[in-house]
Amino acid sequence: MQTLTPTEQERYRRQMMLPGFGEASQQRLKNATVLVTGVGGLGGTAALYLAVAGVGRLILLRGGELRLDDMNRQILMTDDWVGQPRVFKAKETLLNINPDIKIDAICEYVHPNNVDELVQSADVTLDCAHNFAERDLLNAACVRWGKPMVEAAMNDMEAYLTTIVPGLTPCLSCIFPEKPDWDKRGFGVLGCSLRGR
Ligand SMILES: [Zn+2]
Repeated sequence: MQTLTPTEQERYRRQMMLPGFGEASQQRLKNATVLVTGVGGLGGTAALYLAVAGVGRLILLRGGELRLDDMNRQILMTDDWVGQPRVFKAKETLLNINPDIKIDAICEYVHPNNVDELVQSADVTLDCAHNFAERDLLNAACVRWGKPMVEAAMNDMEAYLTTIVPGLTPCLSCIFPEKPDWDKRGFGVLGCSLRGR
C-alpha cells in the first residue's frame, strides 16, 4: 500500500476532512486503478473528477481524433487539438491539473483483443463508450473477471447511470437484452445537465 506524500496530504486535505472519509480512504484511492473507456463528453468528465479526487492510476482508452463537433461537451480538449487523437490531450490536461497521479493513455477502442487485459488490470471500469458493441464487450469482460462496472450513457436530453456488480446485480445484457437500433454520431447531446424534470 502506497502512503500519501506531504503534497498529497495537502492536495486532498479538504476531502479527507469529510466525516467517514479520512486518510485511509484517500490511500485506497491512491492505490486504485480505474479504466475509463470512451473518453469523450461523459468519460472525459468522469476522468476529470477521478483525477482530482486522487485515483492513483487511470487507464484512458479512446480511439479516434478530436472533431470540432465534440467541443460542445469535451472539457479536457482544446480548440487547437482538433484533428489530433483525443486521448493524449485528455492525459495532458489531467496531468496539468493533478501531476500526482499516473495515467496510461491508449488510443484504441474496446476490442476483443484488448478488453480482457484492460479489465483485469483495473479495480473498476467505467463504461463511457459511445456504441453498443464496445459496451457489450466491456460488460462481458467485467462479468468474466468479476470486476465492477459503472455504466452511463447520454442521448439527446436523456442520461442514465447505473452500477453493475457481477454476481450481485443484473449485467448490461440482462438490462438491455435487445440492442437499440441507433445512428452512430447521429444524435444530439448536451454538454451539461441544466434541466430538471
Ligand atoms: Zn447478465
